[in-house]
Amino acid sequence: FLSMGYALTNVTQYVPTLAQAAGSIHHLNDMLQVKPTMVDPPDAKELQPFAREITFENVAFNYPGSSFRTEGLSVTVPKGSFLGIVGPSGSGKSTFLNLLMRFYDPGEGRVAIDGVDIRSVSQASLREQMAVVFQESFLFNTTIAENIRMAYPQATMEEIHDAARQAEVHDFIMELPEGYDTMVGERGGQLSGGQRQRVAIARALVRNPAVLVLDEATSALDAATEHKLNETLSKIAETRTVVSVTHRLGSVVTADRIIVLDHGHIVETGTHSALVAQGGLYANMWSRQRQSRRPEAEAEADEDE
Ligand code: ADP
Ligand code: MG
Repeated sequence: FLSMGYALTNVTQYVPTLAQAAGSIHHLNDMLQVKPTMVDPPDAKELQPFAREITFENVAFNYPGSSFRTEGLSVTVPKGSFLGIVGPSGSGKSTFLNLLMRFYDPGEGRVAIDGVDIRSVSQASLREQMAVVFQESFLFNTTIAENIRMAYPQATMEEIHDAARQAEVHDFIMELPEGYDTMVGERGGQLSGGQRQRVAIARALVRNPAVLVLDEATSALDAATEHKLNETLSKIAETRTVVSVTHRLGSVVTADRIIVLDHGHIVETGTHSALVAQGGLYANMWSRQRQSRRPEAEAEADEDE
């Protein structure tokens, strides 16, 4: 797929199925984030199974021709932890993920997995260990099972059920008259937003990735649904590593550690409660978001799931 000239982020593995389902890769490019292709070094090794930690070591980066700069990024993400990255729009959250998944290379410093610079390994072996869920996950108008299998066509029903259990959507699916054979409707319209995102998380997990990456994946949900998904992510992080970037603080309150970005810099780090106590940018954002969200949270508390 790399020979196509694009690396489709979490979608590399879907391409054959997607092509069948949608008929057109061009159409998909509008919906799925397409990133520039990096070149593997000629002596690229295979990344070994993730065992210890991901490190950003004093990383700095500029997009070509852009005045945005992120720098001084030094972060350690231990295996089996849940890292939240928050910050205002444009603070560099998605850029952090672009560097983590190597859609761009740092200008300075390095990103390493278990001490191995990710520039030295094949991108296929790097991305095999990662799965990404975006804000609006695209579901095809086919069955729930097929939507989950999309990332991994050889998945057995047992693997599909297991992924759905981890995403905590299995029980819901089993209560539907047609279970996993339920058609999700145009763009998944037969499901609620929270259920769609859970199916998307199951789709990401069915490949058994070591690292689950989320980019604003719960940002479109009401507060109560966001909170429940947040708890699911914490459970997933018991066995995998979760990196979730969001401008909505409610999406990461249960994270083991939260990094606050502002203008490309890490301005605060800590748990939710420590950051609230600190009274800085995070605490400010938290009190503003909580105020604006409270009526919505109450109104929709029982609606979505
Ligand atoms: P966030 O995810 O926190 O909203 P981003 O990491 O997407 O922020 O973007 C940070 C800054 O970099 C923004 O000013 C954005 O316009 C700029 N930017 C993002 N992607 C690109 C790109 N591919 N080329 C140039 N500038 C970009
Ligand atoms: Mg973003």
